[in-house]
Formats: sequence, structure tokens, C-alpha cells
Amino acid sequence: MSRSVFVTGGNRGIGLAVARAMAADGDRVAIGHRTSAPPDGFLSVPCEVTDQESVTAALDTVAREQGPVEVLVANAGITRDTLLLRMDDASFDEVVDTNLKGVFRTVRACAGGMLAARRGRIVLVSSALGFLGSPGQANYAATKTALLGFARSLAWELGSRGITVNLVAPGIIDTDMTQVLSDRRMRDVMSMTPLGRTGTADEVAAAVRFLASEQAGYVTGAVLPVGGGIGMGI
Ligand code: NDP
Repeated sequence: MSRSVFVTGGNRGIGLAVARAMAADGDRVAIGHRTSAPPDGFLSVPCEVTDQESVTAALDTVAREQGPVEVLVANAGITRDTLLLRMDDASFDEVVDTNLKGVFRTVRACAGGMLAARRGRIVLVSSALGFLGSPGQANYAATKTALLGFARSLAWELGSRGITVNLVAPGIIDTDMTQVLSDRRMRDVMSMTPLGRTGTADEVAAAVRFLASEQAGYVTGAVLPVGGGIGMGI
């Protein structure tokens, strides 16, 4: 069955891989983008997740063009890494506003339609390193683990209407975001990764695809790690 899917930050990296995977399954996929447009073949919708008006307008467009969102993948995220004593308010606030409040804005804007339809899948992109803690990433880790409390609260609120809310927690994935990691940090993280390699955006997309599927109808409030074994048991 073709569903209306919306992916934030879908113009590149993990979001684009998710969009491609869902489109390959026959879903109608809209990509929210901020700076650069996504490739052809998707409904492309401007969506700045730090701006409620932009989020609301994006979801109105999606509803009009391909139907109310049935599957939301809240993927947009940023890092502003630095050690605590050098971390200024702006670096903290920007990460919170994007990674946490941006998810809140987007989920809130989709939830009404899902409740009315009595169906829905919400997948939030968290981070395995968030759960482990990561030096220089206190702001980022705080937002990525906060998503768990958010998701589990919504799992309770929305569960009786058949709506599931889950997290995917990627490890180190080969995208633009991880290009800035130093060789030393990469060696350290790989030494904690049983599979001994970085992951691909497609491998994360496969996990998101499962959580968003009809077959995952009895999975909610869960964290699915995709990190080559890093942080087993988180
Ligand atoms: P990229 O940096 O490649 O992509 C980030 C995406 O988020 C881009 O599409 C970007 O848009 C978008 N974005 C950022 N800020 C905003 C905003 N304010 N409004 C709308 N869109 C925004 O990163 P990844 O693909 O690697 O990351 C995707 C998600 O996966 C993030 O949430 C990240 O935290 C998470 N993640 C990534 C890991 C990794 O190792 N790569 C590991 C664990 C989690 P634009 O192109 O306009 O900048």
C-alpha cells in the first residue's frame, strides 16, 4: 500500500537514503529541505525545522499534494561540537532548537492527522553516541537522548490509535556529518565498534524502513541501534 511519507533533512545523507528506500517500496515520499534541493523524483518541500511556520507550511503542502502524512521520519539534525568550557549558548541552543525542538515541532504538526486516521508511524533519528556520551558533544548527546523520553511519552499518548513512535540510533555513518571527525576520534570510536567499520546511510535506511513498516505494528517506544555493535545494550 502506498503511504504518504515525509522525511525532514532529506536532501542528503541519511535522510536521502531513507527517502529512496521508502520510494522504492512504492510510498509517496516528500522531502523537507532547507538549503539545497533534493534530487528529482521526490516531492520537494522547503522545511526549516527551527521555524514553526515553515514546518506547518511544509506539512500543509505535503497533505495537499500527496495526502496527510502517515509516516514521519524526523531526521534533520546538526552538530556544534566543542568541549563544555568552550561551548557558548548559541552552540547549545542551536543544537537543541534543531535536534529536539525541531522534532517536537514536526511531530506535533503531523500527529493530528495521524490521530484522525487512526494510523501512523513516527521514526526519530537519534544517535548511539548520544547514549554512550561523547566528548565534545554534550549538546548533541543531550538532544539525542532526550528524544527517547519524548518518543516514549508519545508512544503512550498515541498508541491507542495504532500510531507507533520509535528511535533509530545510528553509530558512525559515512555522511557529511562525520567528515569532520579527527582521525584519532575515528580510531577511538572504531575500537569500540565490533564490526570495525563505519556504517552506510543505506544501512540506517533499512532500519528506518522496518520501523515504518506495517510489519512493525507491535513495536513502539523502542530504540533500534544501527552502529556495528557500538554500545551494545543501550
Ligand atoms: P548530514 O549533515 O549529511 O545531513 C543533515 C540533514 O539535516 C541535512 O539535510 C540538513 O539540511 C538537515 N538540517 C539540518 N538542520 C536543519 C534545519 N534547521 N532544518 C531543516 N533541515 C535541517 O547528516 P546525516 O545525514 O549524517 O544526519 C542525519 C541525522 O542522523 C541527524 O539527525 C544526525 O544527528 C543523525 N545521526 C548521524 C550519524 C552519522 O554518523 N552521520 C550518527 C547518528 C545520528 P541542509 O542540507 O540544508 O544542511
